[in-house]
Amino acid sequence: GAIITTKDVHLSYGSHEALHGISLDFKENELTALLGPSGCGKSTFLRCLNRMNDDIPNIKITGNIRFEGKNIYSPKMDLVWLRKEVGMVFQQPAPFPFSVYKNIAYGLQLEGIRDKELIDQRVEESLKQAAIWNEVKDDLNRNAQDFSGGQQQRICIARALAVHPKVVLLDEPTSALDPISSSEVEETLANLKHEFTFIMVTHNLQQASRISDKTAFLMNGNLIEYGPTE
Ligand code: ADP
Ligand code: ADP
Repeated sequence: GAIITTKDVHLSYGSHEALHGISLDFKENELTALLGPSGCGKSTFLRCLNRMNDDIPNIKITGNIRFEGKNIYSPKMDLVWLRKEVGMVFQQPAPFPFSVYKNIAYGLQLEGIRDKELIDQRVEESLKQAAIWNEVKDDLNRNAQDFSGGQQQRICIARALAVHPKVVLLDEPTSALDPISSSEVEETLANLKHEFTFIMVTHNLQQASRISDKTAFLMNGNLIEYGPTE
């Protein structure tokens, strides 16, 4: 079934309407690529799905967006909970400027997990899922920002996965990386895609066709086409 549903989403930045009524559902355990030319509203739409754009001045969002049936724009919505369930990975790898271990443990501690053994276990599990464990296991105390761009991005993916989200939003996760790092991150996502629900913004048609199950094509703030990627 659908884990996120969106219906007639309009979004304006001041007087500029960037989304003109998008209705699109995301199925569980699929990777959906949001594809389209620069400026068409991909990133704007993605950020609506966990309310990452709430604090932009003069932003106006109407329509209906539900996660597991709950209206995420309801005043009752717990944003800390929502952003744990619907995590995010950005274009620029941005690990916190402290150790690899602490990058992952931090989110777990925010969730109230205090058990050191459980934290250790989640750190290892998530770094393995993100296919970075072998490269960092002897350097868990090293500053995460000392690693290469591709390694940093896989650390960020591990950080997102460690809190056991249901959905991970990815905003151009490989476009700041060199080609080799980019294919490593792509392969990591491809291997995980049926354990999580991924929604990935990309402007790269080849990338979408290599790893996504579904593709949504946006143009000028409208959804033009949606269906199985092939
Ligand atoms: P894409 O991700 O497809 O490149 P964006 O969602 O970033 O597109 O942008 C869609 C449109 O909204 C563009 O016209 C862009 O200039 C505009 N836009 C994006 N973010 C903001 C913002 N914070 N304030 C005003 N306009 C914005
Ligand atoms: P619920 O009954 O599930 O608490 P409602 O549908 O009554 O939620 O919506 C609660 C509030 O959130 C209303 O003020 C509504 O206008 C606003 N709202 C609903 N969906 C959106 C959305 N996608 N963007 C912005 N505001 C929204």
